[in-house]
Amino acid sequence: MDMGANSLPSPSCPDGRKRRVCYYYDPGISNVDYGEGHSMVPRRVAMAHSLVASYGLLNDMTRLRTRPASPEELLAFHDQKYVDLLGRLTPAAYMSDGNLRRTAEEHGIGPMRRLDGACTNDNPVIDGLMGYCLSYAGGSLAAARALCGGDHDVAINWSGGMHHACRGHANGFCYVNDIVLAIKQLLGRFRRVLYVDIDGHHGDGVEKAFADSNQVMTLSFHQYESQFFPGTGSIDDVGEGAGRYHALNVPLKKGMDDQGYHELFKPIVGKAMQVFQPDAVVLQCGADSLSGDRLAGLELSVGGHAECVRYLRGFNAPLLLLGGGGYTINHVASCWCYETAVAVGKEDEIAHEIPHHPYDHYYRSQGYRLQYRTEAPGSRSSGENKDAAVIRVKALEHLSAINCAPSIQFHEPCGAAAQGMDVDDLCHHDDDDDDEEEADPMERLHLLCDNADLRGIFIELGRKRLSSQKC
Ligand SMILES: [Zn+2]
Repeated sequence: MDMGANSLPSPSCPDGRKRRVCYYYDPGISNVDYGEGHSMVPRRVAMAHSLVASYGLLNDMTRLRTRPASPEELLAFHDQKYVDLLGRLTPAAYMSDGNLRRTAEEHGIGPMRRLDGACTNDNPVIDGLMGYCLSYAGGSLAAARALCGGDHDVAINWSGGMHHACRGHANGFCYVNDIVLAIKQLLGRFRRVLYVDIDGHHGDGVEKAFADSNQVMTLSFHQYESQFFPGTGSIDDVGEGAGRYHALNVPLKKGMDDQGYHELFKPIVGKAMQVFQPDAVVLQCGADSLSGDRLAGLELSVGGHAECVRYLRGFNAPLLLLGGGGYTINHVASCWCYETAVAVGKEDEIAHEIPHHPYDHYYRSQGYRLQYRTEAPGSRSSGENKDAAVIRVKALEHLSAINCAPSIQFHEPCGAAAQGMDVDDLCHHDDDDDDEEEADPMERLHLLCDNADLRGIFIELGRKRLSSQKC
């Protein structure tokens, strides 16, 4: 079967299959300005794109040319009042309308005073705010649709990945949560979606959106220390209700380097793939986990960060790659360019020397090398991350609580155990419970299952009955 002219055989792909990659970029993103001195600089996406183009990688991908999202499409996650506010909010309207200022503050937008008394403007009233949100959300939605359509294996939107945005609230430089929107789009086609977040900060907005879902597993690796934003994502936060153990957190201390990171990342992600058996994977590639970031203190190299992409690519599940944080902009652009090369299978071919291109002066401090030098491995991490082995054991234990029976096929729904129930409990009554009138078995099943997916449970019950008849 012809897999398309834009695809490449990938040397690290075990099945030798050609991979079809599509890519979204909106040049308008470089005009978005969070304000002087703000850490978030959307121009980093234009820099990444320019680097990707200068390396010739655009020839290896299909460019996704799509319309921006519509305000109605945002309602798949965000509430109407918040979307209306985003549509009305301009710097001029904000300055002249006191009511609008108060409403904006209630929704986390504009300058405000924190609990500790400090004044912040994490989510400023940006000129062209709604257009910016609709652009990056439209890119992630188009990328998700490309995977749903089956014509592409990997889809990329480096302007997406805004993992802190909440349903009715801006947070942590994020206004609209394109990740949640894209995952909801993927769920229209795929039964189970794994979300992996390698940003330096906890992927709190995405985790919260799917905390009670067993169709989406969220798995976040992040710096977790007092005073470090957003302060959530401890190892003990595992989701709730039907989604219990489908939200996993791997908290890290500053100084974590490539080796320590992958001693956690690979066994934990590998086990998540094994027990959850996702039909599609979303990887948020926030680049503030790189060494030398202005805000975070992790110590990943570009190669170590990209190894996460390479590792997940090897599972051959449809893969959505999104951007995220990243505040040393030359590092961010280097990283996302190299990860684009990984996506198309050219990571071993790409030259280390950054080619001449309009932004090349930004890379002087890193010696014009794509994979800039980081501190010696282990130089800072050994003391700070001494609990990493304990974290790994705990995370793997949490994953063991999910038990998609191996006999259940890839596209079958999860069984009762995966939904936090015991089939034996469904089959047998507690004999001590004589006071209560025996309920109808189907009624009991409905009561026990609540909103859970019954198909998987029926499959499991049927198998149990068959095996007991054999005995
Ligand atoms: Zn971040």
